[in-house]
Amino acid sequence: MTVRVPAKVNLQLSVGPPRDDGYHDLVNVFHAVSLFDEVTASDAPAGSGGAAVTVSVEGQYAGQVPLDGENLAVKAALALAERAGRPLGARLLIRKAIPVAGGMAGGSADAAATLVACDELWGLGLPRQELMEIAAALGSDVPFALLGGTAVGTGRGEKLTTVSVTGDFHWVFALAAGGLSTAEVYAECDRMREASGERAAWPQASQTLMTALEAGDAETLGKALLNDLQPAALMLCRPLVRTLEAGRNHGALGALVSGSGPTCAFLAGSEAKATALAAALDAAGVCRSAVTARGPVPGATIVRADR
Ligand code: ATP
Repeated sequence: MTVRVPAKVNLQLSVGPPRDDGYHDLVNVFHAVSLFDEVTASDAPAGSGGAAVTVSVEGQYAGQVPLDGENLAVKAALALAERAGRPLGARLLIRKAIPVAGGMAGGSADAAATLVACDELWGLGLPRQELMEIAAALGSDVPFALLGGTAVGTGRGEKLTTVSVTGDFHWVFALAAGGLSTAEVYAECDRMREASGERAAWPQASQTLMTALEAGDAETLGKALLNDLQPAALMLCRPLVRTLEAGRNHGALGALVSGSGPTCAFLAGSEAKATALAAALDAAGVCRSAVTARGPVPGATIVRADR
């Protein structure tokens, strides 16, 4: 059972003050883009003491992905087996194209793909709503990877409302050599706000952004892109300042750090302009590599039922 799952970029990430539980209230406008991981789940015997799940990873990022119980895909399969309430087994293979620790929710994507693949492999047929609940318990970004498209997330980001979008938007992603820890970027954001005496406003969805999405207006969308984590990501990874500047100088309609970074996202006016912008970023040497993608695309989807 093979499931394809997209990466996300945050079109708006507004971060409220830290809560007592350590999380932040967010307004998070997620947008699924055509940069995909694939997860294949195959039959395997259950363990004597309960569910047994193993994972292997292929692709250029394979070395950076944990192969034990820390892997979010393994956690997802085990959570699903627990919900099923009987001993089950699966062998997972992740073909990874989404950068690791890149601010594009690759681990969450793999968890979502695993829920869909194992639900089908094990013949559970759980309702979408139940898969969404398991997804939310695994992490704030996992439910959106199931849903795909474009959606506003509130709370920790996990309460989702679909946003209607006209047409396609064309993106360029400048992939960085290293990664940034999401927790460290949030901590830096809190630290910078405290140092400057800035009180975080209660996060609200940008009406300009919503109208631009609905109208398919890339120019307005480009100007409305917003990421409260960007100053912290730039503080922790100074070279990204040059990356963003290069994209703007080469005609991007909008430029921002994706989520907690260090991937930078650029909105282009057309597919041809995205291709030209990616080539210009590669030539400028301001990233490890630049890739094009379009959005919105669907969430975790079965592409092969190879049984
Ligand atoms: P987000 O945008 O949700 O904050 P991210 O894209 O920055 O996430 P991920 O690629 O999801 O980051 O990886 C974060 C960390 O999670 C990695 O450093 C890795 O150790 C761990 N991890 C666990 N499972 C996976 C997985 N299946 N794929 C990638 N990383 C994983």
